[in-house]
Amino acid sequence: MASDEPRRPAPVPDEASAPFFEGARRGKLMLQRCRTCGVWHMPVRPVCDACLSDDLEWAAASGKGEVYTFAFMHYVYHPGFAKEVPYNLTVVKLDEGPVMETNLVGCDNRDIVIGMPVEVLFEELSEEVTVPKFRPRATA
Ligand SMILES: [Zn+2]
Repeated sequence: MASDEPRRPAPVPDEASAPFFEGARRGKLMLQRCRTCGVWHMPVRPVCDACLSDDLEWAAASGKGEVYTFAFMHYVYHPGFAKEVPYNLTVVKLDEGPVMETNLVGCDNRDIVIGMPVEVLFEELSEEVTVPKFRPRATA
């Protein structure tokens, strides 16, 4: 990329989200899971929504899910995305239960449908930050 091109903004991991981003760098979709009742959580929280336990652990999710909903961005809110529009903002419902906002890659926007099976892949934005994205998944 030419150095004069505007850079896309990237997430800045903090103490609470560090395990998520460290997992992404290793190719794992890490989520919080309650050790008391087994419910998975996304985003990070101090206590379980289901049972109020504070005994949460980080565990690798399957990385599989389905499209819950989606929209297309046509307006350039940041110059770093000028070449990306129209891009999709997709909410994936993970097999473990939580939903997460992401982008679907590896398919045309016109082919995205609610309920489409998807799987995670990882995009390295910089040496420090890798983010999960999703692509269509074949079902056998
Ligand atoms: Zn719980």
